[in-house]
Amino acid sequence: MTFSPSVPMSAPFIPFADPHAACALRKRAVLKAVRRVFDSGHYILGGEVETFERAFADYLGLDRAVGCACGTDALELSLRVLGVGAGKAVFTVSHTAVATVAAVERAGAVPAPADIDPATLTMDPESLEASVVHLLETRPDLTPAAVIPVHLYGHPCDMDAVTAVARKYALAVVEDCAQAHGARYKGRQVGAFGNLAAFSFYPTKNLGALGDAGAVATRDPGLAEALSAMRQYGWNEQRISVEPGVNSRLDPVQAAVLNVQLKHLDPDNAARRRIAARYAEGLSGCGLLLPAAMPWVEPVFHLYVVRCPEQHAFREFLRDRGIGTAVHYPRPAHLQPAYRGRLPIPPDGLPVTERIMDEVVSLPMFPQLEDEAVDRVIDAVRAWARTRKAKGR
Ligand SMILES: *Cc1c(COP(=O)(O)O)cnc(C)c1O
Repeated sequence: MTFSPSVPMSAPFIPFADPHAACALRKRAVLKAVRRVFDSGHYILGGEVETFERAFADYLGLDRAVGCACGTDALELSLRVLGVGAGKAVFTVSHTAVATVAAVERAGAVPAPADIDPATLTMDPESLEASVVHLLETRPDLTPAAVIPVHLYGHPCDMDAVTAVARKYALAVVEDCAQAHGARYKGRQVGAFGNLAAFSFYPTKNLGALGDAGAVATRDPGLAEALSAMRQYGWNEQRISVEPGVNSRLDPVQAAVLNVQLKHLDPDNAARRRIAARYAEGLSGCGLLLPAAMPWVEPVFHLYVVRCPEQHAFREFLRDRGIGTAVHYPRPAHLQPAYRGRLPIPPDGLPVTERIMDEVVSLPMFPQLEDEAVDRVIDAVRAWARTRKAKGR
């Protein structure tokens, strides 16, 4: 790591995310929770998992939450209980964590990406409809079955428009809420708009565990029962597999940690919003495109993503000043070797998706990020803007 001479060597490196900070802050409570599991002798499902499932469903205002091993599994299990598998197309976006696309294939279905809105970088409902129509015309082997809108970076998708398309073409809706715990669309929390909502508790997420963990939330008790069975071999009460299933249980250690962290989710999200507001004020007029929050949403800033045409040089400049950044995501799923050339693409392609991958830069964002650190980032970005101006760019 190199520092510019203008920054004293003592200035600590500012990471773009810091999952340890939240745990360290609540160390006693977190370790007490882990110890409780240790002492209980109950290491699969059980009380901690049930407590978390109840508390998380209550938090979301939904009837049920079913814990599972990770967010990718939450998406896969959601599609499976909806009967979305072989011969079915699932519409989603390519500008997302590759997990979204991988989960569709794990369920046996075909991921069909739509383009994204250039302002919010979430699913463009018009491109979604074009994608459905095109698939109906060109792929008689596939039946459109579901849509996975992704509330990317903590900014809700335009769910009214997405659900209108879903209704028109009889698509089930599975919300990918992995980056949006607690975000609201027109006053209602995300997760309430689809048939099912998939969550990840990967350590850096807004609600994070000490390892992998996930959950599916729903207001449909029948689907919740099906999910509870499917995550454990399709077992009934007598441990007889009545449906084929998998092993994707929520680990009780993770559930115990989540029971601690859930209490802090709202204040943590408020802290993220405060940091975002500080960035928005400090970075205005810098020539960067800042995150747009649509007036009808309350985002939760899982990430704070700015756009800069000189992505690489900009990141180097910040790194030389002790500031960590990341790119979410450097390549959309349909251009990654695992998927290239295999996914049905809408007739007009995915121009916004392919353009912004070279522009997006995630600035440091986590609830424990202190004001002085935010200001250091702001100062560094403003210094970058001055050098650009000097070069006439
Ligand atoms: C993190 C994430 C996932 C996958 O979650 P894991 O728990 O890592 O499996 C899925 N979708 C999105 C948008 C994510 O950010």
